[in-house]
Amino acid sequence: MAAGPAPIRRLPERVIDRIAAGEVIERPAAVVKELVENALDAGARHITVAWRGGGLEEIVVRDDGVGIRAEDLPLALTRHATSKLPGEDLERILTLGFRGEALPSIAAVARLCLTSRPEGATAARITAEGGALGEVAPAAAPFGTEVVVRDLFYATPARRKFLRSPRHEGELIFETLRRLMLAAPDVAFAVESEGRCLVERPAEAPEARLAALFGLEPGEEVWEVAAESGEVALNGFISPPALHRASARLQYFTVNGRAVQDPLLRLAVRLAYREVIPPGRHPLLVLSLTLPPEAVDVNVHPAKLEVRFREEERIRGFVIGALRRRLAVPAGAAVSRPFSARGGRASFVPSLSRPERAEARALPGFAEPRPAFGGRASPGAGEEPARPFVLAGPAPQAGGEGQEGREESGEGGSGPGPLGTPLGQIATTYIVACAADGALVIVDQHAAHERLTEERLRAEWARGGVRAQPLLLPTVVEFGEAERAALIEAAPELAKLGLEIEPFGGRSILVRTLPALLEGADPAALLRDLAATLREGEGVTALHERLDAVLHRMACHGSVRAGRRLSQPEMAALLRAMESTPRASTCSHGRPTYLRLSPADLARLFGRR
Ligand code: ADP
Ligand code: MG
Repeated sequence: MAAGPAPIRRLPERVIDRIAAGEVIERPAAVVKELVENALDAGARHITVAWRGGGLEEIVVRDDGVGIRAEDLPLALTRHATSKLPGEDLERILTLGFRGEALPSIAAVARLCLTSRPEGATAARITAEGGALGEVAPAAAPFGTEVVVRDLFYATPARRKFLRSPRHEGELIFETLRRLMLAAPDVAFAVESEGRCLVERPAEAPEARLAALFGLEPGEEVWEVAAESGEVALNGFISPPALHRASARLQYFTVNGRAVQDPLLRLAVRLAYREVIPPGRHPLLVLSLTLPPEAVDVNVHPAKLEVRFREEERIRGFVIGALRRRLAVPAGAAVSRPFSARGGRASFVPSLSRPERAEARALPGFAEPRPAFGGRASPGAGEEPARPFVLAGPAPQAGGEGQEGREESGEGGSGPGPLGTPLGQIATTYIVACAADGALVIVDQHAAHERLTEERLRAEWARGGVRAQPLLLPTVVEFGEAERAALIEAAPELAKLGLEIEPFGGRSILVRTLPALLEGADPAALLRDLAATLREGEGVTALHERLDAVLHRMACHGSVRAGRRLSQPEMAALLRAMESTPRASTCSHGRPTYLRLSPADLARLFGRR
């Protein structure tokens, strides 16, 4: 027989429904999830769930929500029919459902009976079997909706084979319900399995719902978390460091009210708790993240269990930061909302919110402000005043190791040195100073600061190791394979430079510390830069020979940029530090960090004799 190509034909609707149903309805727990979410979307205050035979025999979900009009009942069981997407906008989804797939999918693989009564109407009922809809008929029922699902997967024995025992499926149903109940503590639930009441909870406070469902012992308390940053908020309850479990099962997340099992949030929790609980143990928590609907895509998973954040890094950082700050509050000092700064602008944890403008922070490597000598440069309109700074840590001395640095020299003790007294800044890039001998000094602020930072890094390294500063927000950075390998290979050397990194999953690296001198530097940018630097000399030069290049790149990331407004004391401190630092007169590329024009030079330039 000549077997030509088989003709292409459209699949019958019934088959399409069953294919789609397979994605949405994997097992009885999925039916319960979809039905309860529908009840929540319908504004129910009270939801009853009951099942038999692990949900395969029967599942019943009843609610007191808005109901469905009789004439809409057939549509409710029709694929891609929904009341929840008023427009065509998938960017702003506010309901749990929106795909119009759940009821038709269930109807395609079970016998379904849907009874509903909206306010001001009588009840009506529709049945469906294996996807075929029956007629709408009048019924007697209270306000709200009842869905009865029987003989799940009766028409798809293949699917049934993949299921576990009824007892196990029942446990999965309860796990799903626990998730949903934690996400909606303001809704009352009654749950019954095999004719037995499993749990009954009134509408209640979130912590009461949590304690009941987590089975906390007396004395086991959880801490409240409330943090916000801009339009993103994190609320919920977390276990203190002393309370943990062997499994991570009791970690529940909602995103805009939707119960999700999101890897990003799980990772954030792991990172936040890493240092406070024993390895292999897991915190318990219920966290809800709220953000503008357009900042998160919920349409990435047929069962909608995962979401995608538009700004993953930011969300992860925000969650880690909020948890860490909360965990850092000593027990007993715990107050109900320690850092919710409602009404304040993005200031839930001031020390974590990275100032957007470089002007707002002190120069890296320079400590808290001290009483300044001289006047403060008055900041321009709309600009935050730059903080005065002093040098932190001993400066490397031209004379050798171990000597105390002269970092106080800028504080008025010994007066200005050869680089003089700063007169001001030009083009927010150069410091102009007048030396005691009348010379005019012009300093390139970025080149100078970079040089100082580099020399300090080198001095610390030579003394046995650069001081490391643990990151408040451990950062995970993704790399290409070669870059990642280069960094991992160099990790022991980098650790001596105060940069502690470790492999973290497929293509990622976890940054634990930065050199203290680089405070405020962007770890991701620094690492990318270092990866490139390390690879430049690969195979040609040994790693230790690339130390200079690495130090230089580090210094660059930790140094004040051109364009940063400096106060008078900051400028003075920079000049004094330059005077006490060897090789401060040129940057490591040999370009000068400052120019000095003596009165004789000036006379010559002006053609005076
Ligand atoms: P979706 O929830 O994605 O809209 P479903 O197939 O789950 O799709 O439900 C289809 C429609 O049936 C819903 O949009 C809603 O209008 C209606 N519906 C389903 N369950 C309920 C309920 N418990 N109460 C009120 N209306 C419901
Ligand atoms: Mg739905």
